[in-house]
Amino acid sequence: MITAMKFGGTSVGSAEALDRVSKIIINTEGDKVVVVSAMSGITSFLVGVVDNPLTDPDGIVEQFRFKHLQAAEELLSGELLDEFMEEFEKRLAKFDEAIRGDRSDPYYQDTVVSQGERFSSLILAYVLKSKGTEARALCSEDAGIIAEGHPLSGSADLLKTASGMTMKVKPLIAMEVVPIITGFYGVNKDGKPLTFGRGGSDYSAAVVANAIDADVLEIWTDVDGFMSADPRIVPNAIKIEEMNFGEAAELAYFGAKVLHPRTIEPVRLKNIPLKVKNSFRPEEPGTLIHHLRRSKDELLRSVAAKTDLSIITISSAEIAFRPAMVARLIEKIADIDVIIYSISTSLSTVAFLVHNNDVTATLKQLNGLNGGEIERIDVKNDVALICAVGDDLIGKTGVSGEIFGAVKEANTNVEMISEGASDVSLNFVVPMSRVVDVVKVLHDRFIGVTQ
Ligand code: ASP
Ligand code: MG
Repeated sequence: MITAMKFGGTSVGSAEALDRVSKIIINTEGDKVVVVSAMSGITSFLVGVVDNPLTDPDGIVEQFRFKHLQAAEELLSGELLDEFMEEFEKRLAKFDEAIRGDRSDPYYQDTVVSQGERFSSLILAYVLKSKGTEARALCSEDAGIIAEGHPLSGSADLLKTASGMTMKVKPLIAMEVVPIITGFYGVNKDGKPLTFGRGGSDYSAAVVANAIDADVLEIWTDVDGFMSADPRIVPNAIKIEEMNFGEAAELAYFGAKVLHPRTIEPVRLKNIPLKVKNSFRPEEPGTLIHHLRRSKDELLRSVAAKTDLSIITISSAEIAFRPAMVARLIEKIADIDVIIYSISTSLSTVAFLVHNNDVTATLKQLNGLNGGEIERIDVKNDVALICAVGDDLIGKTGVSGEIFGAVKEANTNVEMISEGASDVSLNFVVPMSRVVDVVKVLHDRFIGVTQ
């Protein structure tokens, strides 16, 4: 039995948290492999370093050293602390070199922002050693995590990572050493770091679980699991005990910040169950995500909402008969890496749903299209995407009727619909001012009654 375990920033954010996490690891039976985030606040600090070329490097190194040593010195002592310090200083020298590097290097940002994990993994490995458990801190390059893609938006190459980890990590596991691997980045074929996007350590952990054929992946965070709705909107929202991969992927993407949305795919591919657990309350059962095909009695499992979006509608006569033009519009938007949350078309319009903050850049791109093909562009700001999730939702007859009936009850107009992209979610757009009411009505009607 191999358990892959991932601990997030708050779970390794202080001496106390690290101590708690080391106990969770030690109490886990069988073989294990661990992936960690940077200590909380560290990655944002590093992003600040990248964004502000005027900062004083000596000061940065000092602050960085202080934050990590504060935790390490509380937990380690004697010879082990000396041994730790030796490795720590080596990594700190590399950190110093990284931040003073050439800012025009395309990999400068990835090199700097991925530094936090190199230190949290080192501390955790030594804390485990101090408790008599053999552990080894491994940076992604030593663990064989291979990535491809552009700077700041890498993706793991699952096949190459599997063969890399078979050579570099599996032998350690066989010797009962617990590998503590850096999350958040892999290295490309030239050995350059590529980060996976903010929050990407969850994805790293799923990649590791896939590569070593883990029996289970545990994502340890600071909440009890996925909820049936945002408790700030629906105070009696309930914890979701169990759901399938598809439902979790939709919820992670559209609303709940529990898990990085890309975490699901690498484990779904190998049918590895995933548990979301709270490292501050390990006795809580968390949420189990697996290949479940079981309808619960209620129609919906959860209702999430993505707010601060805008609809950009492009009008042009008979655009539906000119697919090349639709393709060009999408390409233009993709060129500036803007995420399109939904697309809908009619005979003479194409509508895109994007974040409010991306509207100006998107319009600029679209205006660059030549030849008067576009008749008009309209923008509707401040809308929200409601994501109603339930197993086999679309397979059930009359579901949209029931859901939209409830929305009507909340006196709300639906601006755009994207049903059927996956059979576990019905997504639609409403004005921001109506989000709270719509989520409450759907939760009351299909999940549980709001007090
Ligand atoms: N440390 C990185 C971040 O803060 C990755 C992660 O925590 O998942 O985004
Ligand atoms: Mg996280």
